[in-house]
Order: sequence, then C-alpha cells, then structure tokens
Amino acid sequence: MKTKINEEFKQRFGAEGTMYASAGRINLIGEHTDYNGGFVFPGAIDKVIMAELKPNGTDKVRVFSIDINEYAEFGLNEEDAPSQSWARYIFGVCREIIKRGGKVQGFDAVFAGNVPLGAGLSSSAALESCFAFALNDMFNNNSIDKFELAKIGQSTEHNYCGVNCGIMDQFASVFGKKGHLMRLDCRSLEYEYYPFNPEGYKLVLLDSKVKHELKDSPYNKRRQSCERVAARLGIETLRDATMEDLDKVKSDITAEDYLRARFVIGEKERVLAVCDALVKGDYETVGRKMYETHEGLSKDYEVSCVELDYLNDIAKECGVTGSRIMGGGFGGCTINLVKNELYDNFIATAKAKFNEKYGHEPVVIDVVISDGARKCE
Ligand code: ADP
Ligand code: MG
Repeated sequence: MKTKINEEFKQRFGAEGTMYASAGRINLIGEHTDYNGGFVFPGAIDKVIMAELKPNGTDKVRVFSIDINEYAEFGLNEEDAPSQSWARYIFGVCREIIKRGGKVQGFDAVFAGNVPLGAGLSSSAALESCFAFALNDMFNNNSIDKFELAKIGQSTEHNYCGVNCGIMDQFASVFGKKGHLMRLDCRSLEYEYYPFNPEGYKLVLLDSKVKHELKDSPYNKRRQSCERVAARLGIETLRDATMEDLDKVKSDITAEDYLRARFVIGEKERVLAVCDALVKGDYETVGRKMYETHEGLSKDYEVSCVELDYLNDIAKECGVTGSRIMGGGFGGCTINLVKNELYDNFIATAKAKFNEKYGHEPVVIDVVISDGARKCE
C-alpha cells in the first residue's frame, strides 16, 4: 500500500511527502452502553487508512483517493465544501481544526486503505484520524492533544457527513495501541489500557453482509426504554443501576423495558468481568462473556437477526471460545475469538452452512490488535 501511494504521489505531485496512517477498530464487548453512560472496550486493528501529505504553499487542498480513483480539490473556507462524500471527511477535519484555532494550510495528499467500508470497522474514523493526526503533525507541532483529535473526527461526522456518532470509533483509532484494548468510560471519558495478547487464539469477524431495514426507529425506542427505567430509578443513566435496583421496580415498568434494562446493566457487569479476565490472561472467561452479550442482545435487547443468530450458533457448534454481534445489531458482523486449531474448520463450516441457508458466504476478516494513528517512518 505504501509503495502504491508513494508512486501515485510522485507521479501526481512530482515530489515526496510524509506518510501517516490510522486504523479501523473492533469493539470486544460493551454494546449499546455508550448512551447509557457505560463502558465500551475497543481496540485498533491492523487494517488502516494510509496517506501521504505535503504542504503545497497555496491555500488549496488537492487530494487523490486511490481506492475510489477520484481527485478532489477544495479551499479551506466553510463555503468550499467538496461534493464527493469521501472528500468531505478530509474537508471536515480541516474545518474542525481551524474552528478550534488550529492551523491548516494548503497541502497535497494521496491516500488508500484496507479497512472494509461499511462493515462496522469504522473506515470513516480511520480516515478522519489519519488526516487529523497528519495535520496536527504537519501544521501544529502536535500541539492538539489526542482526545481533541478524536473529537475533531467526531465533529466531522456530525457537521459534514450527517452521522450523529459517539466518540468510540475516533477514540479507538487515535489511541489504539498494539496488544492492548481500551476500556473507555463513556460518561467521564476516562480510559484505561488492558493487555490483549490472546496467544493461541485468533480474532476473526464474519460479515453477514445483511443489513435489515429499520422500521419505527428501534434504536430510539431502545434509548427511550433505558431512559424510562433510569427515570423510574431516579438516576440519570443506567450506568448507576444494579440488578437488585432493577428488580425492585420490576412491577412498575413494562416487561419490555425490564428486558432492555436487564441487558444494559448486565453488559456493564460483563465489561468489568472481561477486564478482570484480561488481567489474568483468562481468555476462556472473555469468550464466555462474549456469548452472554450475544444472548442478551438477541433475547433481551432484541437487536439481533436470524442471520447473526445463525452465525453465533455455528460458532458454538464449532467450539469457538467467544462469539457475538459487533455493533448496533440488525445485521453486520459477528466477532469471534477462536482457538488456532479450530479456526480452519470454523471458517469452512460457517461459509458452507451460511451459504446453504442464505445464498452467500459471510466475508471473513481476520484482525490483529494494532497501533492507531501514527507517522510512518
Ligand atoms: P464505516 O462503518 O466503515 O465507517 P461509513 O459509511 O461510516 O462506514 O464510512 C465509509 C465512507 O468513508 C466511504 O463511503 C468513504 O467516503 C470513506 N472511506 C472509507 N475508506 C475509504 C477509502 N479507502 N478510500 C476512500 N474513502 C474511504
Ligand atoms: Mg463510519
């Protein structure tokens, strides 16, 4: 990838720039917890967006996307927004840095990536973080702190791409560290690194390639259930609730709200259990918690779908250590922690069985927990 970018840059701009990269991410556990003030547990992966940049002494940004095979050129003022959606991510990052008092001047860039688009690995956050990191290094002496870089990416999604996302994806992409996952407290934004070196296991995603159309905004309904239960308990978010608290108000809330809250409270406890297990290197417990999360997402939170439940069942049958839906649900990927010796059989079985039932194979994406945003020497 590096060579390809380098050659393209030389050809287009007749010079050599500086190479930067940032990563996509997985979330091991902690789903639907962000809006409940809880924890998420992401890590950066070995799939990246890589870009070569060089100041060009003008007030224009000139950028070529190798993967989309398109060129875009834009100024740095608010009214200069480019029309191509991929270029809006870069324009947004520039604008958000400028809005915060940072410096951005004209530059040339060529970029490419291998984070699968729209598979739930956050290729957009990788793109934002790569450019935010690069522009901080090139024009701001790295004076913008890392959390601010993540927020620049998040605001880009909000203000220029129409995606009202939380902070996890950009946080993971910027802060990612090889061999470590990060527990991020979505309420205080405090975070802590945990070792993740599952020797003898592989981490693999199976992308079902299905995305169910969401009618009557189930996402908002889940949020409302959580808010109602929190209000009944007299607390701001379910972060502060225990199962005992919930059981005390069981008769005052609907059966559905009860199930929703039971998932959220259980998920917080599972994240904490996974932290303990990781410190001990106990990946069997990690895997068990992943299955429990899947069960909760499927039965209590009701955000799974038949295809993802089927992939989860296949994982169980194949003796996979841990497996669950990753992401908001209703389609997308499962994330699986698999012993090396079971890997080949699991992948072959999942492909064959899924294909037989749904007419296409799931896409296999192996991931290794790796570094986030960086300059490439
Ligand atoms: P994801 O879940 O992967 O973040 P999004 O829809 O949020 O999916 O972001 C995907 C968008 O990010 C693409 O449509 C494109 O505009 C941009 N993008 C991601 N990767 C690349 C790439 N390698 N080259 C060009 N644009 C990319
Ligand atoms: Mg995205």
